[in-house]
Amino acid sequence: MKLYRFEYEGALRWGREDGAGRLRLLDGDPFAGFRDAASSVALASVRLMAPVHPSKVVAIGLNYKDHAAEQGKPVPAEPLMFLKPPSAVIGPGATIEIPTWAGRVDHEAEMGLVIGTTARDVKDAAAGRAHILGAVCVNDVTARELQGKDVQYTRAKGFDTFCPVGPCLATGLDYDNLRVTGRVNGEVRQKSRTDQLIFDASYLVWFVSRVMTLLPGDIISTGTPAGIGPLAAGGVVEVVVEGGGVLRNPVT
Ligand code: MG
Repeated sequence: MKLYRFEYEGALRWGREDGAGRLRLLDGDPFAGFRDAASSVALASVRLMAPVHPSKVVAIGLNYKDHAAEQGKPVPAEPLMFLKPPSAVIGPGATIEIPTWAGRVDHEAEMGLVIGTTARDVKDAAAGRAHILGAVCVNDVTARELQGKDVQYTRAKGFDTFCPVGPCLATGLDYDNLRVTGRVNGEVRQKSRTDQLIFDASYLVWFVSRVMTLLPGDIISTGTPAGIGPLAAGGVVEVVVEGGGVLRNPVT
C-alpha cells in the first residue's frame, strides 16, 4: 500500500493510492490505525508533504561494498551510524538548498525504513523486522568536502533541506530485494538492489535499537550504493526505491 501525507482543505491528511492517480482519504494515520474515509482526491491536485515526521533519522554509512570502494574506505565490521536532524527533512518537490560556501554537495539514493512501533533493545534481527512499518525513498544529501574535513558527519549531513523523504510510505514490500536508483536530470547515476546491503533491514533495526529507542515514524536510512556525485543549482535529483514511488527534488 502507498500512503501519502498531504494538505487538504487546510489540514494535514493521510491518503492511500487508490488507482488511476487518486488518493482515498483516510481517517486516522498509519501508526495509530486508520480506515477509509468517504472522499477521494486526485493525487496531482494536492501538495505532498514528507510522509513521516521523524524524531530522528538514523543513517548508515558505507553499507554497500561498491560505495565503500569508491570512497576508498574498508567495509565496516559493524554498521556505521550517524544522525541527520529532523530539521533537514523535506518532502517531495521541495527544494534542496545548497549554501554557496558548502563546497561539493552530493546525492545519495537510499532506502529508508520507517519504524511503526517503539523499538528498544529488541532481542534479535527477526524481532527487529516486526517494528518496520514500511519504506520511503531518502536522499542522504551530503556536503562531501565538509565530510572530509570533520571527524564526524553532523555538519556535512545536517544542513536544512539535506534529507528529502517521500513521496509516500510504502508498506508490504520485500525490503531485502528492492531496486534503488538515483538520477540527476533524468540520467541514472546510481543503480543497485537492497540485496547488496552489507547489513540488512532487520539487522539494522536490531542494531540501532540496542543504542537508542526507535519511535514510530523514525527513519533508518540504509546507506547508498556506488555512483554518488555532485548536485548543481538548477538541477533535479530523483531517488527511486522499487514500489516506493519517485522522490523528485529541485536544487538551488
Ligand atoms: Mg548515506
